[in-house]
Amino acid sequence: MNPIISVKNLKSFYISNILDVTVVVKAVNNVTFDIFDDEIVGIAGESGCGKTTLLNTLMGIIDPPLKVFGGEIKYNLNNKYYDIVKLEEDEKTKLRWNVVSYIPQGSMSILNPIRKIKKIFFDFAKSHEDLDENKFERIVDERLESLKLPLRVKNSYSHQLSGGMRQRVAIALATIFKPKIVIADEPTTALDVVMQRDIIDLLSEIHEEEKNTMILVSHDLSIHANICARIMIMYAGQIVEIGKTETIFENPLHPYTKFLINSLPIIGDKKVREAAPGKPPSLLNLSEGCPFHERCPIALPICSRKNPRLKWKTEDHAVACFLHGGEDTYHEQINAKTY
Ligand code: SF4
Repeated sequence: MNPIISVKNLKSFYISNILDVTVVVKAVNNVTFDIFDDEIVGIAGESGCGKTTLLNTLMGIIDPPLKVFGGEIKYNLNNKYYDIVKLEEDEKTKLRWNVVSYIPQGSMSILNPIRKIKKIFFDFAKSHEDLDENKFERIVDERLESLKLPLRVKNSYSHQLSGGMRQRVAIALATIFKPKIVIADEPTTALDVVMQRDIIDLLSEIHEEEKNTMILVSHDLSIHANICARIMIMYAGQIVEIGKTETIFENPLHPYTKFLINSLPIIGDKKVREAAPGKPPSLLNLSEGCPFHERCPIALPICSRKNPRLKWKTEDHAVACFLHGGEDTYHEQINAKTY
């Protein structure tokens, strides 16, 4: 099976000059992975680990001080390959929303509070499609109805809607042209658990109906457990484990993944859940070695000197940790791997 998105050795850094000193934040540091047609993949990790930067780079939103220092992101659309990093801005605009769309953190960032919802949809359509207004209004109505939103929301301002309703509208807007790839950044942030469930069910229904590919970022692994076929664990700008969702939960290999899973609450269990000790490292000043070594309770002497590479342990489970090998280059293996 050919990947629909293939990311190889991607380095996406923030670079700025402060008092003549060049400051580099390695937000996405040598990341390689594939995403396949019709799957939902989760990206999990603590705040500040580079998840949102990775999503922005995948969308081709690479505005200074963000800069791609190496690697490629290839989209395979009907057997035509596009490296989004190298596309001109107008070519990226054509791809965005029609082929790949983005559901941002917090609906308010795409719902202009001083425009009625209907106007927001029309502003959006004008910037992306050359549609006549009547035809587009029918598309909007169909989309709202298919996502079980009452048509009256069109005449509301975003602040007149509940948080859950706003998020449904944001999802309707982002998926209005039924894109092949949907990238969602923390789509359940700031919602109560009932609304979180509702939004996850909605994304799941869209996926079932439209057979698209979804990339879902969340710091909360329980969200991934409900919807994702595979999960990638990100730490300090790197992917440290990739596997099927059930494999990640039943047989996590990376010590950081184990902490993430152990910290999930269990109904009826009142014990304090064990979280990873210490704080994540600053991406500004990453020390040598495994990025987790200062927090890892079972670090080996080599861990402070060398950074382990991702290594396939089975056909579909890879981990970057010296306890599980880690000397082989996953980057070479992924090139050789046949799907
Ligand atoms: Fe811990 Fe070493 Fe594995 Fe890193 S490589 S997670 S420090 S054991």
